[in-house]
Amino acid sequence: MQNTPPEQTPPCHCHGGFIAEHDHGPCVNHALERAATLCRERGVRLTPQRLRVLELVWRSSRPLQAYALLEELRVQQPTTAAPIVYRALDFLIQQGLVHRIESQNSYAACRHPDAVHDGQFLLCTHCGRAVELESRPVSEQVRAAAEGVGFEVSQQTLEVHGLCPRCQGGPQHG
Ligand SMILES: [Zn+2]
Ligand SMILES: [Zn+2]
Ligand SMILES: [Zn+2]
Repeated sequence: MQNTPPEQTPPCHCHGGFIAEHDHGPCVNHALERAATLCRERGVRLTPQRLRVLELVWRSSRPLQAYALLEELRVQQPTTAAPIVYRALDFLIQQGLVHRIESQNSYAACRHPDAVHDGQFLLCTHCGRAVELESRPVSEQVRAAAEGVGFEVSQQTLEVHGLCPRCQGGPQHG
C-alpha cells in the first residue's frame, strides 16, 4: 500500500500540449464534469450545444477559431449555423470556462474555471500551442500600474508570445 502517488495531480492542470504527451481524454472528461457542476451550482444551463463546444475547445491543444468549431459541429449536425457557435462561446466566456485570445481571434479552454480571473496566456509562435498562467501577482501588478496612471481597468488579457519547450529544440521530457 502506498500513499498518494505523484501521478494523481489534478488532471485539469495538464496544460494541454505543453507537457509531455499524455492521454488527454481523462483531462477532458474531468473538465466537462467540473463545468457541469459549476453551471448547476450557478443555476445556469450548460446545454448539449454549449457542452459540445466546450469539449472541442478542451480537446484541442491549440486555441480554436470559431470557424474551426463550426466545422467540427457540422460533422455531427450539418445544419449548425454560425450564431449557435458564437452564442455558445459567449456563454462559456461569461462563465469563465473559456478565454478569448484577442491577438488570434481564437478561444482556449480555461484550466481553472472555479474562480474568476484574468486571462494570461503563453502562446507558442511555432506550434500554436497555448498555456494558461494564473498569476494573481501579475494581474495585481498590471492593475496597480494602470491605476498609477489614472487608468481604470475593466478587463485584462495578457498574451505572451514565444517558444514552448518542445519548439526550442531542447531536451525532451518523458
Ligand atoms: Zn491533459
Ligand atoms: Zn482561466
Ligand atoms: Zn511550440
